Amino acid sequence: MQPELNRYVPRMRLGIDLDGVVANFTKGWMTFYNRDYGTDLKVEDSETWHDLVNLTHFDDIGEFWEWSSDLDGHSVFWHLETFPGAVEALVDLDSDGHDIVVVTTKPHFAHDDTYEWIDRNGLPAKEVHITAKKWTVACDVYLDDGPYNLPGLVRHRPEATVCRYVRPWNDPVVGVHDIHDFDEFRGLVGRLAETREM
Ligand SMILES: [Mg+2]
Repeated sequence: MQPELNRYVPRMRLGIDLDGVVANFTKGWMTFYNRDYGTDLKVEDSETWHDLVNLTHFDDIGEFWEWSSDLDGHSVFWHLETFPGAVEALVDLDSDGHDIVVVTTKPHFAHDDTYEWIDRNGLPAKEVHITAKKWTVACDVYLDDGPYNLPGLVRHRPEATVCRYVRPWNDPVVGVHDIHDFDEFRGLVGRLAETREM
């Protein structure tokens, strides 16, 4: 008897955000900002979504993007580190039979860098969608840290399970599951898969 092998695990489409979930965007831009402007910003200093303007000398997000579009020949996104354990968790979820669907918002200048980054870091992405309207990409489960994305996902995808990756720059949203790490996310996905089992 090998019940695990015989068990039918339904595939689910997992809509995974990159920045703040898989990619350490805050650490990435701060590292370059400290280098270029002689500051001593630390990741812990970032507590709001707009800190890339609030903590810097930039007057608006446009100035930030202009600076961050060319750092040593690539956009800041090309340089980002992954959070420890994030890629491994996605590989495991892919192995469990789920589809990893990357749903990310990026400036136009970073699109090519994003595809390259996903490949270089070994994300098992079945699909990659770069869009500001994340709800247009149908998924069973979403994992996102963006305070402006979560309410839209709940509103437009009421049948989906929407998860907030808890970060200092986001707050609880009604109807959204709070996720603190990828172990917790894997557990939730496993339970959802079991409830869908036929
Ligand atoms: Mg994000």
